[in-house]
Amino acid sequence: MSKISILDFTKEELSVKIKPSFRAKQIYEWVYKKYVNSFKDMKNIPNDLREKLEEDYYLDPLKIATIEQSNDGSKKYLFLLKDGKTVESVLLPMKKEKTNEEGKLLHHTRYTICISSQVGCKIGCSFCLTGKSGFLRNLTPGEITSQVLMIKKDNDIAQNRRVNIVFMGMGEPLDNLSNVQKAINIFSDPLGLSISPRRQTISTSGLSTQIKKLGNMNLGVLLAISLHAVDDELREQLMPINKAYNIKSIIDAVKEFPIDARKRVMFEYLVIKNLNDDIKSAKKLVKLLNGIKAKANLIFFNPHAGSSYERPEVKDVLKFQDYLLKHGVLCTIRESKGLDISAACGQLKDREEKK
Ligand code: SAH
Ligand code: SF4
Repeated sequence: MSKISILDFTKEELSVKIKPSFRAKQIYEWVYKKYVNSFKDMKNIPNDLREKLEEDYYLDPLKIATIEQSNDGSKKYLFLLKDGKTVESVLLPMKKEKTNEEGKLLHHTRYTICISSQVGCKIGCSFCLTGKSGFLRNLTPGEITSQVLMIKKDNDIAQNRRVNIVFMGMGEPLDNLSNVQKAINIFSDPLGLSISPRRQTISTSGLSTQIKKLGNMNLGVLLAISLHAVDDELREQLMPINKAYNIKSIIDAVKEFPIDARKRVMFEYLVIKNLNDDIKSAKKLVKLLNGIKAKANLIFFNPHAGSSYERPEVKDVLKFQDYLLKHGVLCTIRESKGLDISAACGQLKDREEKK
């Protein structure tokens, strides 16, 4: 029998598979808290069980293939899966370490880790490289959580340091909901990666029925909608999935989604030159978000070879933001982190494969 990944199981599942069940908790701590790389290092596990674990399971679903370091501090990882396929993740330092005048540490650097949920993607958005490369397969729960584990290890980020997770790498997380649900469970488990669900954001192209399902699971995670257009015609052109789930169906699903009283649903809006960067669109967006505890996030379209879309003018993005803010919609502009490496999703993978 070939080995399976021990990281694919939630603590509950593992305590059914491994007896006595308290051993599952111990193994969990070795993997997620003490960052061990081998069953041999699990000192409080009896020898015979360690040997049995070694025979049945592996601990390393991913290997680092390449790392690209950007001038702004972000780091892009390309991971090699057991079957030879690759996915990417990005480590983004959001807020630099802060010390007071006496040099006392006020807070560590705050990190956000952007992770993938699938190899490729079925949704096929016209602006997205991942979408262009088609769909290969879903990632397993362990392949999803390992991206965070490996990046924390590789950067000596202590297990108890807070990180934010965003499912904004390759793939559509709601098209792989059962594995994503397990990954969220492992992330959130106090003996697992111990990351509060409020620090985990699921970004979706807007699969309305799946948004409802995720909401009914009441996991406490945050939701981001990749809206990108305010009328169905343009949205269909950018995201063919809009034919199945139109803007109204998404807004209706968002209105039912349970969110923490202090939090908001994020609406991502990819700004493309001469396509959706005008004030008329901003006006429609304000109308659309009326009555929703929303926050808009404007993203500069990042051009790639073979794409006919263009990066918007900074002044137009600022005007767009200004209109939203003046009309009561919270609005940020996503910093173009990692532009000098290969910024948007799918671009590192694309470059590696062309080498
Ligand atoms: N499939 C989900 C999660 C992946 S998100 C979703 O679409 O929401 C991938 C992110 O990368 C999205 O926010 C998308 O808008 C962004 N993206 C894709 N191609 C891009 C490009 N060329 N320039 C800038 N952002 C891009
Ligand atoms: Fe898939 Fe998201 Fe890219 Fe669209 S933007 S193709 S949904 S990864």
